[in-house]
Amino acid sequence: MCGIIGYCGPRQAAPILLDGLKRLEYRGYDSAGISVGINHELTVIKQTGKIHDLRVHVPAEIAGTYGIGHTRWATHGGVTNTNAHPHVDNSGKIAIVHNGIIENYTAIKKKLEEKGVEFFTETDSEVIAHLIAQNYTGDLEKAMKDTLPVLEGTYGIVCMHADEPHKLVGARNGSPLVIGVANDEMFLASDVTAILAHTKQVVYLEDGHVVTITDDEFTIVDMSDRVVNKKIDEITWDLQEIEKGDFKHFMHKEIYEQPESVVRAFRGRIDREAATARLGGLNLNSRELLDIERIKIIAAGTSFHAGLVASYMIEQTARVPCSAELASEVRYRNPIVERNTLYFAVSQSGETADTLYAMRELQRKGARVLGICNVVGSTIPRESDGGVYIHSGPEIAVASTKAFTSQITALYLFCLVMARMRHMSFESGEWYIRNLTDIPDKIAEIFNTADKMQVIAKKYCSFTDFLFLGRGINYPVALEGALKLKEISYIHAEGYSAAEIKHGPIALINEETPSVFLVPDDRLREKVVSNMKEVKARRGPLIAIATEGDMEILDIADDVFFVPKVPELFYPFIMVVPLQLLAYFCAVELKRDVDQPRNLAKSVTVE
Ligand code: GLU
Repeated sequence: MCGIIGYCGPRQAAPILLDGLKRLEYRGYDSAGISVGINHELTVIKQTGKIHDLRVHVPAEIAGTYGIGHTRWATHGGVTNTNAHPHVDNSGKIAIVHNGIIENYTAIKKKLEEKGVEFFTETDSEVIAHLIAQNYTGDLEKAMKDTLPVLEGTYGIVCMHADEPHKLVGARNGSPLVIGVANDEMFLASDVTAILAHTKQVVYLEDGHVVTITDDEFTIVDMSDRVVNKKIDEITWDLQEIEKGDFKHFMHKEIYEQPESVVRAFRGRIDREAATARLGGLNLNSRELLDIERIKIIAAGTSFHAGLVASYMIEQTARVPCSAELASEVRYRNPIVERNTLYFAVSQSGETADTLYAMRELQRKGARVLGICNVVGSTIPRESDGGVYIHSGPEIAVASTKAFTSQITALYLFCLVMARMRHMSFESGEWYIRNLTDIPDKIAEIFNTADKMQVIAKKYCSFTDFLFLGRGINYPVALEGALKLKEISYIHAEGYSAAEIKHGPIALINEETPSVFLVPDDRLREKVVSNMKEVKARRGPLIAIATEGDMEILDIADDVFFVPKVPELFYPFIMVVPLQLLAYFCAVELKRDVDQPRNLAKSVTVE
């Protein structure tokens, strides 16, 4: 799930590995470690806690110009120094780091123990070090290739051997690895942020490939030993994009980036002449687009909420049946793939295991699945049948914010294409484009009164239970608001359709349970106002997000945050930003670790 970095080159490895791990912190982790090699010996240092805790245990005099580092998000075995990676074999000459899960490790471990191998950790990963040692006959690459067929599960692995200095061997299956190419030095990492300070030249490794790096070379082979020629890609992100700048937290920065990130999602994709959108990556011609009779969006977490929002827009505007489903549920339901149904797999990282596996299952059944992802070169875009990059720039905070609004933007563009091909007039297309392209300015307006939300957060953050309530297209936004608050402030929160509270959740209402109502001036406003009154009658504290000028809400709610007016189906962009701010300010007030909330990982690459 978490992070890997490897280095071969002329410089001392330890500081490079530690800096790389620091850049990977955002993915969420519980312990970390490094191993560096010199004079046919490896030094391994591992520590629970933050990279800072590891750093203080790394001796200043540590020497070694090649090495590997890891941030662990424990899946098998407690969070202890011993269980942290790297893991070594019994000779102490081989060290490995692993992201993912080895599902058959118990059986492997039993066999190895019978052969006299001694185990030191409770992890699934340790078997890899011992298997490589068993297969080792002086060639690390060969030992890795002989080991991989035995492993079941997901992995990104990098290993090193004390007797083969300045060489790292990596392999992947469902967990990303990328090669960083620089002058006289090479890197291997689970994600480009770890190496962006050193190089922008990268090669994305694919499942089933084994890579060997030395100081000045990389070679990739497949499992049949055929050399794979892969082109070097240039990363378009800048270093400053993965730094906080003047912001205290990445999440705060990313919330504030939304006016720009939404523009990046639609830039170059709007065809004003034809009042439609142009999405080159769909790989569908007009005839195929016209044939689509149903759309299904599969995703998890925040991306699922973005999919739900889009399903309202697509059904109402393109008049094509559309639903969003949790990827984890789709996969194991033996899904029925209907003719002329188009699927979208939505994932910020493009590595979300639940979404990826659901996508593969759908593809096996003949479905056409398009990706909506942020990370270029990640697995979902590579394996999907086409798709749209949202170009949000790196999202470092674990709690997703700007990716959400950009995912909606991409799906709204697709909706425009579908609507214009069916019944939407040229004038309506122009109207739609005008409203979508106005969104960045409207989001920016919200920031003018952000301090008001800070006051609200201060007032309410000591409550332990919240309800988030909205209707229609803002119902998924209520779900997202509750998720944000849970994720980073650890306050218990539930999202419901405002209409649903009377079917159960209203039993929770008392003076101690604040409700956050999304009450824009849309068709459902009066209904939501009635739901607010139901809560008020039971003395529940009321926070409302309402359209500016709606003075009646001031009389009903205890606190009101006003947002600019937009057409009904565009409100999710405008409604979610105050909820992101509310969660953020509550977490800051409660002194939570905003960017790396406990137990969470940024890209969830295990099921
Ligand atoms: N399954 C391994 C462990 O628990 C690796 C977890 C990770 O990806 O960080 O150590």
